[in-house]
Amino acid sequence: PAGPDPSAATRSRLVVLAGPTAVGKGTVAAQVRAKRPDIWISVSATTRPARPGEVDGVHYHFVSEDEFDRLVATDGLLEWAVVHGRHRYGTPRAAVEDRLDRGEKALLEIDLQGARQVRESMPDALLCFLAPPSMGELERRLLGRGTEDAEERARRLRTAAQEMAAEGEFDVTIVNTDVRTACRELVALFEGGSSRPAQT
Ligand code: 5GP
Repeated sequence: PAGPDPSAATRSRLVVLAGPTAVGKGTVAAQVRAKRPDIWISVSATTRPARPGEVDGVHYHFVSEDEFDRLVATDGLLEWAVVHGRHRYGTPRAAVEDRLDRGEKALLEIDLQGARQVRESMPDALLCFLAPPSMGELERRLLGRGTEDAEERARRLRTAAQEMAAEGEFDVTIVNTDVRTACRELVALFEGGSSRPAQT
């Protein structure tokens, strides 16, 4: 499949990266963070406990159920969802709006349910679907990550199979065959031509 169409209709200052579990959204986002400091990446709030090595305020804002309730009640989240039937995840609204107001580029790395909500609340957002080269490859990546037990892996694979059907709802698909290429294609979706191309 071809890479993203770089026409005006497929460019935005707000890009939403979604896709099935374990497709490598986080890895692609990390590559964008490393290569393009001019692209701000939203830090989500979550009720999930931190994994070893995760830092509060960097990987996520780790919040209690009560704090998450408060964020929802005060309309503090641009979108939120229960992901994998367990914990809640949401995008703090003010930070995104501040960045866009200042003319900056913003990237959200969220799940499919969240992407649908952003489509409704921010119609100018560009929705990008990150697809695996194949379902077999997706399963291999989920196993290789080693962060979930067998039951959780099975749950996430079932979710992923359903999520693949949503590709048609997105503006653009990027196939994550290798992270550098995916990163370059993602960066090309932002409008407001940068002086520096993505380094690879
Ligand atoms: P993990 O627990 O492995 O860090 O993330 C699980 C899933 O939650 C991933 O698919 C990730 O994209 C999604 N996620 C992370 N932050 C958000 C968010 O703010 N909103 C939504 N809807 N999903 C999120």
